[in-house]
Amino acid sequence: MPEKTIFKKIIDREIPADILYEDDLCLAFRDVAPQAPTHILVIPKKEIVNLAALADHDEPLTGHLWTVIRKLADEQGLAKSGYRVVVNCGADGGQAVDHLHFHLLGGRQMGWPPG
Ligand code: AMP
Repeated sequence: MPEKTIFKKIIDREIPADILYEDDLCLAFRDVAPQAPTHILVIPKKEIVNLAALADHDEPLTGHLWTVIRKLADEQGLAKSGYRVVVNCGADGGQAVDHLHFHLLGGRQMGWPPG
């Protein structure tokens, strides 16, 4: 069996996290090292390594993730001021955890271009 990622351990409640939302398909929790006043990670429960590993049949799942992200941003009071959603993919993308995740960042002015 391959080693579980840290996010799979959070899904399985083997390590703690500040969970804000959960349903059958996904989990949302606060990033342990926030890069903005609001920094939430939204992940599918299905073990998908990253964006590049998504299959065409995952389209309903990714649509659901975007709906959850939009609602969370709204609940967190970010909809009006704006926010950023980041997906790091692979080595050049700066991905550290090999389980697909969407960063929802808000509460400050974002810079461009990203580092
Ligand atoms: P990435 O670089 O896109 O793979 O992002 C991984 C993110 O996971 C980073 O922002 C980390 O701060 C975050 N992270 C790592 N371990 C934990 C944890 N145990 N709980 C919450 N967030 C975590």
